[in-house]
Amino acid sequence: MCAEKKFDPLENSAYEAVVGLEVHVQLNTSTKMFCRCENRFGAEPNTNVCPVCLGWPGALPYANREAIEQSLRAVLACGCEVGEFSKFDRKNYYYPDLPKGYQISQYDQPLGLGGQVDFFLDGEKAGVQLTRIHLEEDAGKNTHVAGRPVSFVDLNRAGTPLLEIVTEPDISSAAEAGAFLRNLRLIMLYLGVSDCNMEEGSLRCDVNISIRPKGAQHLETRAEIKNLNSFNFIEKALHYEISRQIDLKERGEEVVQETRLYDPERDETRSMRGKEAEHDYRYFPEPDLTPVTFTREQLEDIRSGLPELPVARLQRYTSELGLEDYPAGLLVRDHEAAIFFDACIELYPKARSVANWILNSLKEEANSRKTGISSLGLEPGRFVDLVKAVDAGVVSSQKGRDVLKPMLESDKPVVEIISELGLEQISDDSELREQVEKVLSEHPGPVEDVRAGKKNSVNFLVGQVMKETRGKANPGKVAEMIGEILSA
Ligand code: ZN
Ligand code: MN
Repeated sequence: MCAEKKFDPLENSAYEAVVGLEVHVQLNTSTKMFCRCENRFGAEPNTNVCPVCLGWPGALPYANREAIEQSLRAVLACGCEVGEFSKFDRKNYYYPDLPKGYQISQYDQPLGLGGQVDFFLDGEKAGVQLTRIHLEEDAGKNTHVAGRPVSFVDLNRAGTPLLEIVTEPDISSAAEAGAFLRNLRLIMLYLGVSDCNMEEGSLRCDVNISIRPKGAQHLETRAEIKNLNSFNFIEKALHYEISRQIDLKERGEEVVQETRLYDPERDETRSMRGKEAEHDYRYFPEPDLTPVTFTREQLEDIRSGLPELPVARLQRYTSELGLEDYPAGLLVRDHEAAIFFDACIELYPKARSVANWILNSLKEEANSRKTGISSLGLEPGRFVDLVKAVDAGVVSSQKGRDVLKPMLESDKPVVEIISELGLEQISDDSELREQVEKVLSEHPGPVEDVRAGKKNSVNFLVGQVMKETRGKANPGKVAEMIGEILSA
């Protein structure tokens, strides 16, 4: 394997990058935004369609309450200002996957204004300011068949609800963009409003980017890269585009305002079309939909029902529960693991043991089954029984892992599994002492080393006892016994 050194075009450069993002998050409502067609990925092309989402003349849209509620959860979680009034507008453009010839979106009265998303970048707390969050409908999808001179249009996705989150030009590197997006994705997962499956396009990102001399305050002409759907591509596209713009300026040329496409095969961005100006879209209020209004009470209800978000959770795990940064981060980044962890420590508040068992053993079981922790179907109470058994010395931590597998395959109580497998730790001191003395007599060399002060040899001897007892001894106790015997 060749370790690729990440090239950073801004290192030792006279320029700085100014990056803003537009993130589209597909909501996981049961039906589409303005009709009752099913909102589902992967159906046969053009089967989830009706006169409304096909844009037939005279068919009238009606707004999906679930989508508005989900959006408000996201809007409030991101700290946006919510007015008491929000409306939909038509954004007019022509494209084969847009049957109405316009997209219903929101222009000047979006659901949320302002806001901020906090996250950690290299261990430091960072934040990106948001401009707005609005709700709109998605377009269909054009599919191209390799080797055939035709394209197909699938309108299953047309009219599905899409949340658009727009940031201020507040980001200055590919790494920062990546950290922000990963955290934003996590927030949406915690809120339960989207599956954020990037391969299926549930989270897509447009990147606006310009460069300027380091320290300048003005904004220069920017290019936009459309529809990036992997963190890796976003970071690579940004690196490429920053280098390209620096090269242009160094040659005395200008950056053109345009929409560009990232080609992962060639790792480059290419010009797609001149960038539309806002007035090209001829936004006007959607006459077929009434504005949406909320009361303060409705908003308060939603706000008070929000779950604890990733950054707050991370801080609780480290400062209140005493976890190290690294395991706390691993738990928080795996939403299912974090939920499972919280349920377990309600029952058994030994946070470090529980975290350790989830991150090492349970995640390994989940990974080997290519699934998440929640799909293992394990009750937090049974899992905690195992951790308790190990902590209490009923079974060694080494053998505890052998107990976990059968636990996932049956509902038997943990103690029963331990005794059926004959894995109880040796609790009888005289039996253990016998084993220790046997090992000491068989290994006079290491015994001499220990007497001469070589600590490593103790570990070797403990290892031998563990081997003799097939892992059923308590290694801490064995080490203690060896110390006692050899110092006597
Ligand atoms: Zn429909
Ligand atoms: Mn949009």
